[in-house]
Amino acid sequence: MNIFDQLSSHQWEYFASYYLGSQGYTVLEPPSVGPDQGKDLIAQLDNVTYLVSCKHFSRSQRPVYAGDECSILDRLIQHGAQKFIGFYSTCGSVSLSESLEADGVEYVIFDGLSIFENMMDVSFSVHQSLFREIRVVRAKTFGQEYRPLLCQCGCGSDILGSALSSSVYLALGEKGVNVEWRLDNHIDCSHNLIVTISDVENCFSLNSLNKIIDEHERILESASEVSPLFDEMYTTFLEVVHQMIYPVD
Ligand SMILES: [Zn+2]
Repeated sequence: MNIFDQLSSHQWEYFASYYLGSQGYTVLEPPSVGPDQGKDLIAQLDNVTYLVSCKHFSRSQRPVYAGDECSILDRLIQHGAQKFIGFYSTCGSVSLSESLEADGVEYVIFDGLSIFENMMDVSFSVHQSLFREIRVVRAKTFGQEYRPLLCQCGCGSDILGSALSSSVYLALGEKGVNVEWRLDNHIDCSHNLIVTISDVENCFSLNSLNKIIDEHERILESASEVSPLFDEMYTTFLEVVHQMIYPVD
């Protein structure tokens, strides 16, 4: 599964401009709307002007061939650009490299893998606005070691990676209020008084996570007894959930 599959071709172009910005480029012309004679973006770095061609073939999982990039030399001249950037969600084919070299074009190819490896440089708001499909949240750890959040019933299910819905809630145990997280159908309502219950998926957005934390804090303030393990448990929960929001530094 490719994290880029969730983007449309147009979103891919927007993402390219944000990404290049995060890599030090100045994007002079933002993504154009509609048919565009092969021009996607114009960017600059160190006084060099680049023609940036964005190709988003991750769903068809094929590389960009020489035939996909028509008359690059003409396009460079037309836009006063000195170098070419291929911004591809898959990769450039050998035929493309050969064609560029035969034409004497100086070029840089950003392929899906290298883009993915540097995605931590892209601002948080871009991640939040473009990459929000739950089924790819694992990929948001960007290659860092992934920590599962195991259902507390002891079944061993990772509630972050599960397709089943799961919840986080405050429960009143023998030692006071504590935090619990479980798959929804593993919540045992008979033993604990569930003080509040929130969908774990809501914790993947910083806004809604903060609302949940606020709500928990209000309840804690009025609780007569809080479990001595509460702080440690809550920290664990936030740390693990946080990897779904933004990579850990
Ligand atoms: Zn369970």
